[in-house]
Amino acid sequence: MIIILLGPPGAGKGTIAGEIKKEKDIPIISTGDILRKAIKNGSDLGKEAQSYVNSGKLVPDYLIMKIIEERIKEKDCKKGFMFDGFPRTIQQAVDLELLFKRLKHNIDQVFYFETSKNTIIERLSDRRVCTKCGAIYNLNYNPPKIKDKCDKCGGELIQRDDDKEETILKRLEVFNDETLPLVDYYQKQNILTKINADQDLDDRFKEVEARLKELGLVGKK
Ligand code: AMP
Repeated sequence: MIIILLGPPGAGKGTIAGEIKKEKDIPIISTGDILRKAIKNGSDLGKEAQSYVNSGKLVPDYLIMKIIEERIKEKDCKKGFMFDGFPRTIQQAVDLELLFKRLKHNIDQVFYFETSKNTIIERLSDRRVCTKCGAIYNLNYNPPKIKDKCDKCGGELIQRDDDKEETILKRLEVFNDETLPLVDYYQKQNILTKINADQDLDDRFKEVEARLKELGLVGKK
């Protein structure tokens, strides 16, 4: 199963990906996570990507495609994978199509998480992530049991640098300009499902799950 989770920052793509993973154990490929890790490790990729990520701009397509090609060729991707935060430009979607043609892969479904600006700002400014395992929390509706500590691994919870309000607004602008055209692009291919991402997590996931079942991608029909 190969699916794409598309939506503005704060739409809950990563959280939904985690829920899908509980039902279908395939890796979540988050280009954002890969880039943040590279920056933390000070690798060549990290050095090249740092200024873009920290200012909320998009990292150049050629770097992203290199990351993707390497990642999906890894062993754990044999049964499928989910893309979270990729593709983000029409060029990346076109490059992905070419890559998939070569590797004989198909996109099963694209989920577009539609949400309002207010919800996004609220969710992102309250979002905290674990520095160790990447688990995502929200101070309002999914707080950790102990302040600033991950329930799962005890790691330290932090606010991402790019989750500060000024950068959020920049990321939203970039999403509207560069990524939103992908909705039309995948709609024309008849592989897109819109999800109302203003709903709470349970209802969002129910919609996703129902569609995956309808397509025969998880559970029984
Ligand atoms: P995310 O965690 O998906 O919100 O991504 C955080 C940041 O990483 C973005 O604001 C971009 O700077 C960069 N990034 C992540 N994925 C991509 C992508 N597919 N194309 C370009 N830049 C990306």
